[in-house]
Amino acid sequence: MSATQRRVRAAVLHGVGEPLGVEEIELAETGPHQVRVRLAASGVCHSDLSVQQGRLPFMFPTVLGHEGAGVVEEVGSAVTRVSPGDHVVLGWNPPCRRCFYCLAGQPMLCDIGLAEALGSPYGTAAGVPLIRGLGVGAFAEATLVPEGSAVPVDPKVPLEQVALVGCALATGVGAVANIARVTLGSSVVVVGCGGVGLCVVQGARLAGASQVIAVDRVAAKLALAESMGATASVDSSAGDALDQVRALTEGRGADFSFEVVGRPETIRLAYSAARRGGTTVVVGAGSDADVVPFNAMELFADAKALFGCVYGSTDPDRDFPMLVDLVARGDLDASSLVTRRIGLDDVNEAFVAMEAGEVVRSLIVFGGH
Ligand SMILES: [Zn+2]
Ligand SMILES: [Zn+2]
Repeated sequence: MSATQRRVRAAVLHGVGEPLGVEEIELAETGPHQVRVRLAASGVCHSDLSVQQGRLPFMFPTVLGHEGAGVVEEVGSAVTRVSPGDHVVLGWNPPCRRCFYCLAGQPMLCDIGLAEALGSPYGTAAGVPLIRGLGVGAFAEATLVPEGSAVPVDPKVPLEQVALVGCALATGVGAVANIARVTLGSSVVVVGCGGVGLCVVQGARLAGASQVIAVDRVAAKLALAESMGATASVDSSAGDALDQVRALTEGRGADFSFEVVGRPETIRLAYSAARRGGTTVVVGAGSDADVVPFNAMELFADAKALFGCVYGSTDPDRDFPMLVDLVARGDLDASSLVTRRIGLDDVNEAFVAMEAGEVVRSLIVFGGH
């Protein structure tokens, strides 16, 4: 393929705290096990902001964006799983299928796929080697990824709708289906109703929970949660959220609770908001500097299950096509998660809006599809 196609516009981050610079990059030649994908749409996720602000350590320069979908443009000589023209959702942790974790049925913990995706430059910006942001590099007109990162999906479903499968939907719905295994008729509380939290709400409704209590301090997000299936809202800025959840659950707390913020106070709230013998899943990505207090008695006496959550325990090859199908059938509402459709040049404004809590998701939409 021509070098022209490998030269694309991308939002490049050169260091912590700097704005993203939209500039031309040059993708490397497609290696035997690599796939070049022309992006159609790319969601702006909180983890991208965390890298820019230095809370999530990373290497520079890099192209952020890890929630994208597009069309395969070129495949390496050894690639058989996709062909040019295929529609794909990009995953940020391609399972290697041969490490300890993959063989143990926990591909989201694969310690080879992501290391390979991050381990070597995949292109250059002004001659300087570039690292694929969070393994994907989706804030660009095109990216070059390991073949396992490109998951083929039904081409009849608009790519703008399926972009969010790669992070928000995989994580949020996966937390419900793969980790908590929410049961029919159960009660669920969701602490934090950003993009991923709203996917937890939708997943809980799909799983047949009879009560889904949304907790947030932003009224607009609570309204959105109710439109997506929450049966009650708790405004955590008005009164004690735990008291309000207990009042809605006969004083016991919910069967399942999800924390989708990543802060000690909200993790503690989610744990307290689960009933005795219930299940708490920590979906939010917190910092290793934050400590959450639990007393020793409650940990045994309340007999709760406390789970971590990496990528919703998703197996991309198994789950992405299923999630796309649920989007196509209208069982999952991806469009309402998108507050703003923007261009690549608007990415810095999208970061500001996300930090201010003004948007659930900004979706970068690329032309040509
Ligand atoms: Zn994300
Ligand atoms: Zn592996």
